[in-house]
Amino acid sequence: MQVIILGPPGVGKGTQSLLISQKLGLIHLSTGEILRSAVKAKTQLGLQAKEIMNSGKLVSDEIMVGIVRDALSGNETKNTGFILDGFPRTLKQAIALDKIFKEFGFNDVRIVNIIADDDVLVKRLMGRGRQDDTLETVNNRLKVYKEQTAPVREYYSKEYPVHDINGVGDIEKINNGIVDVLKGTGATA
Ligand code: AMP
Repeated sequence: MQVIILGPPGVGKGTQSLLISQKLGLIHLSTGEILRSAVKAKTQLGLQAKEIMNSGKLVSDEIMVGIVRDALSGNETKNTGFILDGFPRTLKQAIALDKIFKEFGFNDVRIVNIIADDDVLVKRLMGRGRQDDTLETVNNRLKVYKEQTAPVREYYSKEYPVHDINGVGDIEKINNGIVDVLKGTGATA
């Protein structure tokens, strides 16, 4: 199974993806985590990405598609299945991902879109204490989400059922809802 988790910053994609990966035995691929590790290790990618991340903007599509292509190209992703968290974030990335999926023969794709209102997202992001969680960056990230990432949901909805999940409430309950949908037993599955 290949799962794509969509949703705005702060909605809980990381937390939910981790839980899903544990429960369903899927590989968890978070592009934000890959970038944060690169920043920490001061690799060339990290040095390039640091300022962009701190401003709340997006790292270039070319770099991100390369990272994801590499991450998906092993046998393990094929045999085990995976959950993509934080990618795609632009239409260009979504189109590139279609090609990668075709090339690698990934054809059991499930799309989950987690939702919450802006005031909830701002509160959560401001309480997280991450380096890219200052008020200015948070506002910018939400703006970038609306302009560049929200259209990705519409793009997928033309080809797949997109499962919209309310991201406000008890983490475990939300997670059970997502797992049900992924197993095909959810009301909207
Ligand atoms: P996240 O942990 O998913 O919130 O990602 C943190 C930051 O990493 C984002 O604000 C972007 O600057 C960068 N980033 C992560 N994933 C992507 C992506 N798919 N495309 C572009 N930039 C990304």
